[in-house]
Amino acid sequence: MIDNNDGLRDVTEVLDALPSYRHPLPGHDVLIEHLDTLVPRIRALAGMAPCLPLDSVVLLSPVANPGKLIGAPVNYQRHYEEVRANVALHHDNPIAVIERAGVFLKATSSLVGSGEGVRIRMPDRRTDHEVELALVIGRQASLVTRDRALDYVAGYCIGLDITIRGPEERSLRKSPDSYTVLGPWLVTADEIPDPGHLGLRLSVNGDVRQESSTADLILGVPELIEYASSFYTLFPGDVILTGTPAGVSPIQPGDTIAATIDKIGTMHVHVHAG
Ligand code: MN
Repeated sequence: MIDNNDGLRDVTEVLDALPSYRHPLPGHDVLIEHLDTLVPRIRALAGMAPCLPLDSVVLLSPVANPGKLIGAPVNYQRHYEEVRANVALHHDNPIAVIERAGVFLKATSSLVGSGEGVRIRMPDRRTDHEVELALVIGRQASLVTRDRALDYVAGYCIGLDITIRGPEERSLRKSPDSYTVLGPWLVTADEIPDPGHLGLRLSVNGDVRQESSTADLILGVPELIEYASSFYTLFPGDVILTGTPAGVSPIQPGDTIAATIDKIGTMHVHVHAG
């Protein structure tokens, strides 16, 4: 558990309260499934644990075992315009806003935490950053309407949807190992009652590249949950990356990405050679 964004408390002991399984294991994240009931215990343990400096640990993904990583393509109008205007971004793929394009899936094996960094898989191909608000589903959701959708959210993270540009399917170009970064931690939904007005920005080596607000999302958090859950059941730990604003640009080994979202914090992510 993170304490005031500058230290952390070791509450590992709380994992003892989770049920144990034998094969076949659940296809969703069991910690997120039980998070509601564990939070009081986490708070109690945190009060007794020493405060450790954040830089003494490597921050892994706040969700260890998501069943699905769902991406929202072209969900900000200005990003739609920048992609349509630049062949290096669209590669003659048909580009449509999200209401036409729908959502897509990324491989769960692409997931890392902010402390692990991104490894450039194909150095000869253009590889871009995309900063996105990421939401984590807290309970099973099927055919959920937008007015009830926020009841199904466990919390929020900063997401990076790292993308190789090119002609292939999105799910392939966005699924190499380490191309989904979630972090720096999970902020529980009670701390963000309105995810629709959060500033987000991303810089590379100190240069600001992306700056926007979730108020500019074409489909907001409730609408994305409604849309995704109309096609398939969402399970605890499933992640929805809500889409990136304008300003995508290439990254290379040696770069440091700083990504910030209001009410969540800032994560620093190093880019490494593959
Ligand atoms: Mn994206």
